[in-house]
Amino acid sequence: MSLLSVIVPCYNEEESVALFYQELMKEQSFLREKGIELELLYIDDGSRDATADEVKKLIGQDGRVRLISFSRNFGKEAAMFAGMEKSRGDLVVIMDVDLQDPPSLLPQMILHLEEGYDSVATRRVSRRGEPPVRSFFARLFYRLMKKISKTEIMDGARDYRLMTRQMVDAILSMREYNRFSKGIFGWVGFRTKWLEYENVERARGETKWSFWKLFLYSLDGITAFSTLPLMFASLMGVLFCVLAFVLILFTVVRKLIFGDPVSGWPSLVCIISLVSGVQLFCLGILGQYLAKAYLEVKRRPLYLIREEL
Ligand code: UDP
Ligand code: MG
Repeated sequence: MSLLSVIVPCYNEEESVALFYQELMKEQSFLREKGIELELLYIDDGSRDATADEVKKLIGQDGRVRLISFSRNFGKEAAMFAGMEKSRGDLVVIMDVDLQDPPSLLPQMILHLEEGYDSVATRRVSRRGEPPVRSFFARLFYRLMKKISKTEIMDGARDYRLMTRQMVDAILSMREYNRFSKGIFGWVGFRTKWLEYENVERARGETKWSFWKLFLYSLDGITAFSTLPLMFASLMGVLFCVLAFVLILFTVVRKLIFGDPVSGWPSLVCIISLVSGVQLFCLGILGQYLAKAYLEVKRRPLYLIREEL
């Protein structure tokens, strides 16, 4: 007998909690055939609506349901981390409560895992139903990441993923504060099977991600999985240095050949460009180290629990 932990992050999702439960239970006969027990962890990420009460209702009906309530909204990344930390299963799957990660894919995922994969991940091949501006910037982000990061980050990858305990433990060993799961999944490696599916629109409620929130999240992703932007200051520094040398040559030659009526001004420009170039160059190097240290030093907890059932 093995145990499957289903981790479901919820933030203001009172309408979806029960619906998700019903949908998941449709897969129960398959799980039973395979001899897989189920545990269902709802992570209430500081919801201000009746999400926790809805989960408590389910706990009354079904002993396999668990609830972890945060003291405030810590974000989906923290919710996923808490879920993995609290899960007991030797298989773990993360799913959105809004049914955008269809539980009907679960049997297929489990079969693939049995073929010997460590993880079965999903990606959307279409973005139907999403605002076009959002799709455009999402695509841009993935293209950029491909160029500037060594870690593989799939376009359209979801957090919907079935993993073995071994992979979950590897992910849990990464205690960084600035979490970007799409990168972390890629970073830990392991053999991953990708399943593709058409985008499914949210069943109830509305998305918790504004364009601005997504934009900041993408910056998290870039800083967590690439240090190339820091190099930008250094590159600019080198560029300015080169420019300054050209200017120096230019002014010297001009002075020698044509003479110079306004003395003092050109040399000043040369010196200012040279020095500011060198400064940017040094700032770039410092920034490299500072950014790395800054994120590690604080060591704040990733989440705080208010209630656990
Ligand atoms: N979520 C969360 N904390 C947050 C934001 C979202 O736990 O701060 C959960 C949310 O309840 C849902 C999942 O993360 O189960 C995905 O969120 P959403 O559907 O809003 O994102 P989208 O599918 O639009 O990208
Ligand atoms: Mg969603």
